Amino acid sequence: MLNKKSVDDIQVKGQKVLVRCDFNVPLQDGVITDENRLVAALPTIKKLLADGGRVILCSHLGKPKGEPKPELSLAPVAKRLSELLGQEVIFAADPDVVGPNAKAAAEALKDGEVMLLENTRYRKEETKNGEEFSKDLASLADIFVNDAFGTAHRAHCSNVGVTKFMKENAVGYLMQKEIDFLGNAVNNPERPFVAILGGSKVSSKISVINNLLDKVDTLIIGGGMAYTFMKAQGQEVGTSLLEADYIEYSADMIKKAEEKGVKLLIPVDTVVAKEFNNDAPSRIAEGDIQPDEMGLDIGPKTRELFAAAVADAKTVVWNGPMGVFEMPNFAAGTIAVAKALADIDAVTIIGGGDSAAAVNQLGFGDKMTHISTGGGASLEFLEGKELPGVAAADDK
Ligand code: AMP
Repeated sequence: MLNKKSVDDIQVKGQKVLVRCDFNVPLQDGVITDENRLVAALPTIKKLLADGGRVILCSHLGKPKGEPKPELSLAPVAKRLSELLGQEVIFAADPDVVGPNAKAAAEALKDGEVMLLENTRYRKEETKNGEEFSKDLASLADIFVNDAFGTAHRAHCSNVGVTKFMKENAVGYLMQKEIDFLGNAVNNPERPFVAILGGSKVSSKISVINNLLDKVDTLIIGGGMAYTFMKAQGQEVGTSLLEADYIEYSADMIKKAEEKGVKLLIPVDTVVAKEFNNDAPSRIAEGDIQPDEMGLDIGPKTRELFAAAVADAKTVVWNGPMGVFEMPNFAAGTIAVAKALADIDAVTIIGGGDSAAAVNQLGFGDKMTHISTGGGASLEFLEGKELPGVAAADDK
């Protein structure tokens, strides 16, 4: 269990509570296309309001790079959040986030009322953890609550810098839930414990592979990163994604798995095409990828192999798609893994990002034990790193 002060440990009646949420939702022409992150933030907000807190929400949205960008305003989030909460979320539309509107609105808040600040990344100090903006944010409130798991792996003003100027710093329910699920899975898993890694690059998952090899019974490697492992085993991979600088590393990981008695599974067949294009003619290659062919998905035998490997697992952590799942003709491997996880009686944890999107889009969301709201943060957690956004909260 996370040993940090939580929203259950603070007295918020009549207090102004600044809550860092992760409202970084996808927007299309001002319409929110996936509101999972808003829904995930509701328990903490509702608890603080019910306890009579005066709630000031803040979040970043996209990458406005330190200046106001109307298309990245949080205004649509305030509107949708008002509907979800069933009460008005006052929106403070200051281009410098903590401006006259925000200050006046915060002063006027009554117990059980809630407001939202403008996109914290409108300020260029935000991502540099600068003192001035941290102080501005802190000046609005008495207590700070961090519920933004998706940015917990970054040290920014609105999740780390601000804590230096607050008298109390707690974490929200979402943060607690994320850390409890991921922490239990990695540090105290019911076995067999299987990790599935995919996605494009070995280089972005080096420490994850290394750390997980110390914990799991089986490690499954799919997606673009598998080709560097296949090359390390002496196979030809044609024009598939290959990170030549990581072939040796991959060979070391294969050796480490052997030494530790960890079963390491790499694709035995792949769907290959001559072009990176959904409509490109494809075939199944089994150890015979030609020089002009690239692997874009795991093949049918591999899908069966991977499904069999999780069949009797008790804990499974999955991060990264098995192929170019954005193209329907190369999505079958990712779908097969999602189905395999949906079917088993195990704790199944989806580590955010593309795999979370895939599982939700394919309609398997409610079959998983936990779908993380943070791709980067869950990866860094799986690497065994301490997340600065969590470390900054007060200990219990
Ligand atoms: P990442 O951001 O590293 O988790 O990688 C996710 C991306 O990997 C997705 O956009 C997939 O399309 C891509 N991907 C997965 N498998 C392959 C592959 N075999 N070749 C190229 N890209 C892939």
